[in-house]
Amino acid sequence: MAIFYADQLADGSEIRSDLCVVGAGAAGITLAMQFAESGLQVCLLESGDHRPDAKIQELYDLETIGYPMRQDFVSRARQFGGSCNLWAGRNMRMSPIDFEPRDWVPNSGWPLQYAELEPHYVQAEKVLRVPPHRRFSAVAAIPDIEGEERGMFEGGDLEPTAALWGTKPMRFAKANLAALRNSRNISVYLKANVTEIVPSENGNAVEYLVVRTLSGREMTVRARTVVLACGGLENTRLLLVSRRRHAHGIGNEHDIVGRYFLEHPRALHGRIRVREGVSLPYLTGIPLSDGKVQLGVALSEQAQRSARVLNGYVGLEPAMSEMAARQYGRSMSLAKMIVRRGYDHSEKASHVDGTNIRELIYQLTPKEIMPHWLYRPYALIKRKARRRLKIGHLTVINFCEQAPDPASRVTLSEQRDALGVNKLVLDWHIGELERRTVTYLHDVIGRAVERAGIGAMEVSSHEADELHFTDASHHMGTTRMSDDPRTGVVDRHCRVHGLTNLYVASSSVFPTGGHANPTLTIIALTLRLAEHLKAAERRAGPATAMYS
Ligand SMILES: Cc1cc2nc3c(=O)[nH]c(=O)nc-3n(C[C@H](O)[C@H](O)[C@H](O)COP(=O)(O)OP(=O)(O)OC[C@H]3O[C@@H](n4cnc5c(N)ncnc54)[C@H](O)[C@@H]3O)c2cc1C
Repeated sequence: MAIFYADQLADGSEIRSDLCVVGAGAAGITLAMQFAESGLQVCLLESGDHRPDAKIQELYDLETIGYPMRQDFVSRARQFGGSCNLWAGRNMRMSPIDFEPRDWVPNSGWPLQYAELEPHYVQAEKVLRVPPHRRFSAVAAIPDIEGEERGMFEGGDLEPTAALWGTKPMRFAKANLAALRNSRNISVYLKANVTEIVPSENGNAVEYLVVRTLSGREMTVRARTVVLACGGLENTRLLLVSRRRHAHGIGNEHDIVGRYFLEHPRALHGRIRVREGVSLPYLTGIPLSDGKVQLGVALSEQAQRSARVLNGYVGLEPAMSEMAARQYGRSMSLAKMIVRRGYDHSEKASHVDGTNIRELIYQLTPKEIMPHWLYRPYALIKRKARRRLKIGHLTVINFCEQAPDPASRVTLSEQRDALGVNKLVLDWHIGELERRTVTYLHDVIGRAVERAGIGAMEVSSHEADELHFTDASHHMGTTRMSDDPRTGVVDRHCRVHGLTNLYVASSSVFPTGGHANPTLTIIALTLRLAEHLKAAERRAGPATAMYS
């Protein structure tokens, strides 16, 4: 088919399709591509354009209350390809324990287990073009990890957790552009904003979607199956604003939609003084022929169970002096403008000041911003130099799981966007279990660092008193998965409870978020959903396809 602009269609048009995917970010594009040349007509509706557009981006404006989130930080991109136009491409798998109900973590437990998702993780790593996780899944799988670095993981309380990058971050729109343009069955509509989901009269199926453009046109889309892939917050917003047949929004009979908002609270907390001569290549990141890997230090499942804490890990980055940090921070803000394709242009870049420089530095390390061809020689030279020079200090960056809390939530604001859709109010909560997890992990790592002969953990008294978290642009949990409609919005197949043909592909379905960056799991779940939808198609038979 082709790529169309919705604002070039006639007002009042009706688009018909077998499968309609709303949102062309990582999840939406991956899902649509699974149906390429399938014989089904697929319609992919995307609010954004090929490039960032300030007016379109404003449709994402929301109000934040509760625990402070980063200000002047672009946490989502309303653009063809979604927020992965901004991402640094760090991929991590969730751990088996993340899927289990844990009696010390209220509202934990997925209706599926890690083993069910494992084959989809393998497939997702191929979609994202990252090195396979199995090469770094445990110390035993990494034959050349040695010395103090190997010693860190002895004793059973700590285990490595692998962050993997491909040779460059996957930009979903660019990578799939030619295939989408040439596809015979997928039609992409840009500048197409879904503003309402309208169910049939009995309320148990989607009848049509309302699509609006910023130029004032309105269209409808009818499809046999609808998948929401608008990102962790917008799926929720769409369900909440669609009140024509359901007074509290779609899937919200039990007041769950919007609740249990999860992030990955992140804190720069503590430093490790490294003994002269110690080399920690895996913990500080190394290039591979097909990408990059960095090991984090995570609490083992056994340690989480016995201490009754959440999942969490620390990443280690070479620390800098305050002056070097300032210089680096300035150059990073410039790099950020380039890497993030214009999103932080204008006045936002000038907001980089002393308070967020530290945060910036450790978000954008050389391995995340350097092209692979440059990072490889850079890392090799650095590694050689380190054999002679001492590392000095490592900054400890804590990444923590959150306990699902119904009070941590998004709701609708009275204020509306340019299309007349209610904006969101985001009320983020962080509990005591998160703080206890970080301090517990620190104690364990402090002991391991000394035992392995790496050096010593240093936490200033000021830091220990004021454990300050930031958000990580990971929006999860607000359409959580559960087999019971009283405790979840979607079932194990990501279908919205109570509706026969409405599904969600997103981190919004995660009932718990573990400590891992979410995109790899989003893609794994999306591939699983595609399999489910294909099986349903096969069962229904080709004759039932609506518009093919
Ligand atoms: C700066 C930054 C760095 C990040 N780094 C990492 C990282 O290293 N690793 C990681 O795993 N994750 C990272 N993330 C998070 C990652 O970007 C998201 O997990 C991922 O993009 C989610 O994909 P998605 O397809 O679910 O949603 P999105 O990428 O948000 O895509 C949703 C799409 O839906 C469209 N849309 C929204 N509303 C509507 C509507 N009403 N109608 C039509 N279309 C609509 C949007 O325009 C968008 O294209 C980062 C995020 C940011 C902002």
